[in-house]
Amino acid sequence: MSAPPSEQSFAGSVASPGLALGPIRLHVTAAAASAIPQRTPAEERKALEAAITAARARLTELAEVSDPMAAEILTVQIAFLEDSELAAPALAAITGGESAMAAWRAAMNEQIAGYQESDNAYFRARAVDMIDLRDRVADGLASKTTAPPPPTDAILVAEDLPPSRFLETDWSCYRGAVLMQGSAASHVSMLARARGIPMLIGLDADLSALADGAAAVLDAEGGCLIQHPAAATLDRCRQRLARLQADATADAAFLNKPAVTADGTRVQVCLNVDDPAALESIDPAACNGIGLTRSEFLFFGDTGLPDEETQFQTYLRLLAWADGKPVTVRTLDAGGDKPIAGLTPDQETNPFLGQRGLRLSLARPEVFRVQLRALARAAARGPLKVMVPMVTVPAELNRTRALFQEVAKDLLAEGFEARMPSLGMMVEVPAAALAIATFDADFYSIGSNDLVQYVTAASRDNAAVADLYDPLNPAVIELIERVVSHGAATGREVSLCGDMAAEPKFLAPLLNAGLRVLSVASASLAQTKAAVARCTLSESG
Ligand code: PEP
Ligand code: MG
Repeated sequence: MSAPPSEQSFAGSVASPGLALGPIRLHVTAAAASAIPQRTPAEERKALEAAITAARARLTELAEVSDPMAAEILTVQIAFLEDSELAAPALAAITGGESAMAAWRAAMNEQIAGYQESDNAYFRARAVDMIDLRDRVADGLASKTTAPPPPTDAILVAEDLPPSRFLETDWSCYRGAVLMQGSAASHVSMLARARGIPMLIGLDADLSALADGAAAVLDAEGGCLIQHPAAATLDRCRQRLARLQADATADAAFLNKPAVTADGTRVQVCLNVDDPAALESIDPAACNGIGLTRSEFLFFGDTGLPDEETQFQTYLRLLAWADGKPVTVRTLDAGGDKPIAGLTPDQETNPFLGQRGLRLSLARPEVFRVQLRALARAAARGPLKVMVPMVTVPAELNRTRALFQEVAKDLLAEGFEARMPSLGMMVEVPAAALAIATFDADFYSIGSNDLVQYVTAASRDNAAVADLYDPLNPAVIELIERVVSHGAATGREVSLCGDMAAEPKFLAPLLNAGLRVLSVASASLAQTKAAVARCTLSESG
């Protein structure tokens, strides 16, 4: 009898947190079929055209049932397939005697290499969309009609996963996903986070080291995939899962109650919105409104920058959902880890310290004005608040206010309903936190994700310096207290909307620093309210 395979652990970066246990399901695309043509060039040509048409039809179907952000990604893929330039080199090679499969793959591989070699992180991340198109059409050519039966509670492992494959995956069959590649800028990491699917990217392993069907633990908390887990590892994992499940059930009881500490202090808990589609499953009664809307989702599609009407309608939908509760929209925070093609600079040596957030908006007033106009129109229709990211000096806030007032005045002159909303600022830059009293903002929202990285000089997405990226660093807490005191002294609201707000172990320090308004992702709403209920301020200080 052969010995059972021994446990193997592979490190990866956490793209979406969580823990899962299940068999590995390797996602392997159709291998290239024979390079020898089986048909006449005319038949090979017809086969390629039919496969392209079928792939386009499938993507169109998918776009129709997807949320707006995902649909935009798919629309760009469809546009590629509709462009006759895409297939032209393959068709020429077929005329020269190659098989449709070999010609198509060679032509697409050349395009993909161009994207992968780009200096621009955004274009590199788009290579995955082209790989998806290559494989979809290749699958059609190979007449791959017999898909394997859906797995049960498996961990999906793939080289990379384009958004379209993510969207058409039935995630009820999977407990999590692991990608050999992936990037922080990839849409798929964002989609996984928005849907609460645990995901690791950049696994330190070769796909061939993993076995389809092997038992595995996906630890998207510690950042590793464990193949063939030993009995003790499985036990620990099952215990942790049982604890997580019991905690989630207990926390759910707090979802629809006001958040009040054990000693009676009321805390407002608002929602962070990255993707409005996620709001469909949430009752607005469970929160105190929207504390942060990352408006980048409007700009991530590849179909160009969103026009005023598109933005206006989106902001109105948020107001309608909130049903009278305040909705805070953050103006575009492009740059850093969120490049936007055609907008963010390409060659910055340190994008986190470059032209991101409000710096970029002020440098591109023709883009900023469109967003401010849409926001001023929406503000006339409900309790909208607007805040600006990455503010460093008061002049930036003052320029924003002046531009906003000008835009609102123009709109009124043009006969639109418009209003200048309450204008707040995110506190993410240490210089702004230190000199907070010099900023004439209507409210302040502390962006701890960035504040911590700038105070500790430790990147928020680099596991190698994760121990230095400490939200409880005394310097961070001192800055938070400073902002809260200034808010209290001037009667202005101070909230905190970084991930720190959703981590129960940070709650007591935040409440003891005087914070009374938190904003968290929807998946953390119940847990945060439950943590508030367990907190006793007088004891935890
Ligand atoms: C933050 O920095 O804490 C924040 C909420 O903004 P983002 O995570 O979008 O940079
Ligand atoms: Mg930030």
